[in-house]
Amino acid sequence: MGRPMTTPDPTRCPLCQQDNACGAAAGKSDCWCFSVTLDPAALAKLPEAAKGKACVCRTCGEKRPADGSRWPEKP
Ligand SMILES: [Zn+2]
Repeated sequence: MGRPMTTPDPTRCPLCQQDNACGAAAGKSDCWCFSVTLDPAALAKLPEAAKGKACVCRTCGEKRPADGSRWPEKP
């Protein structure tokens, strides 16, 4: 058997399991999350085990525009 399913992967978003592109987890000194406002509603959905250990990805964590439009997707 491998790792327990509950172990959070610091490089993956706990909400959608995609790469969270976290600069801090990659050993860089900065991260996209330093320059955006994280959505408190997204942070509230994080599993207890992932809090403080795994970042959400930009798609899940960045606050949506008030008009409901989507953020531009990467090509
Ligand atoms: Zn996500």
